[in-house]
Amino acid sequence: MVHHKKINQYVLPFLLSTFYLLLTIFSGCAVPKRKPPSVTYHPVTGEKKPAKPIKEIIIKIGIIESTDGVSIGGEDDFEIVDMKTNEKIKMSGDNIYLVKTAKGKIIFGKKQFTSDIKIVSRRTDQKITVDGKRYKGNIILKINNRKKLTVINELGIEEYICGIMTKEVSPNWPLESLKAQAVVARTYAIKNLGRHKSNGFDLCSQPHCQVYGGFESEDERSNKAVYDTAGEVLKYNGEIINALYHSSCGGRTEDVRNVWNDSKTENPEYLTGVKCGFCEKDKWYNWSASISLKTVGNSLRSAGYKTGDVKKIKTVGRTSSDRVKEILVEHSKGALWLRSNRFRMAMNPNVIRSTNFKVKIKNGVAYFRGHGWGHGVGMCQWGAKGMAEDGWNYKKILKHYYKNSEIKNLEE
Ligand SMILES: [Zn+2]
Ligand SMILES: [Zn+2]
Repeated sequence: MVHHKKINQYVLPFLLSTFYLLLTIFSGCAVPKRKPPSVTYHPVTGEKKPAKPIKEIIIKIGIIESTDGVSIGGEDDFEIVDMKTNEKIKMSGDNIYLVKTAKGKIIFGKKQFTSDIKIVSRRTDQKITVDGKRYKGNIILKINNRKKLTVINELGIEEYICGIMTKEVSPNWPLESLKAQAVVARTYAIKNLGRHKSNGFDLCSQPHCQVYGGFESEDERSNKAVYDTAGEVLKYNGEIINALYHSSCGGRTEDVRNVWNDSKTENPEYLTGVKCGFCEKDKWYNWSASISLKTVGNSLRSAGYKTGDVKKIKTVGRTSSDRVKEILVEHSKGALWLRSNRFRMAMNPNVIRSTNFKVKIKNGVAYFRGHGWGHGVGMCQWGAKGMAEDGWNYKKILKHYYKNSEIKNLEE
């Protein structure tokens, strides 16, 4: 496949230039010189990188936040770099090494280190393995304040985005929807760099930030979407936006202020709700759930609300996207009003999939019927898929969900 591509890349320009040469000779007029396309190839993956300059951002991802031990290996020989002294030790890629901590030291196979270490592959295309899973870039092993190991993957932003794509959407989705996903994931990551600074890395590999699976979760199609949009981010008034996104909106996206209304949340124009109408194919476009009032009470109490036995739940008010504004819980000790999103989080956001629901109580059980999955703010992933199937390109999709935002190269 690769071979075939290479032949095309070299043969085609050759044929074209021959054609132009003949054209020049026979027509007698000058044909403007065509610049050879300045396509470069990614040093790690060998995939096509756009010619436009890309600001290389190096990102640190916490892949294991705290562990007693981990196994490290390499696809080929690698080096351990002592991050304090910068001393390098060559290691054979034929072995798998058990790494643990003891008395504040890192024990790496038969070697000991008193400071943090970095595992660096001797060839950039060879990956390092952590508990059998392959990662691009470097691995940093750090002793955390609980005297345990923190395992960090240090790599380029584009390679990082490649490792989250299939955790978010299927790589079989239309390419334009994958490109839209790549741009929002990149924008989100850059906006949130340093979120876990106190832990020694930028972002975690969990849903809290964005789920990252390393090289094992990469796919050729989703990687193409990443490299086709390399360096592109969403901006509003020249600033990188907070590109929130969710699985499906159920018809219309939501104003950010209706979901998290605290003093910290502004309501920028780019995060105001818009009509979607493209996400009906999501299996959670219509969902239902039933929770006994007893469980509702228990869940509210474990979330910190002082409620007695729950007698009734009522929805109060609707937002413009038809989501519930507030929930009134009548219980044996009084009444509790809470924001619908807080109620959803207290119940279980994977059971109450959105705040766009209706509820009925029958024989001590609350029956919910709702639409969509997620908070509903920003891009609707299933909607983006529907739009791409309808022929929209990723720029049109993103401009629809993030009103008046612009797609810019990082440097711009
Ligand atoms: Zn996180
Ligand atoms: Zn939608």
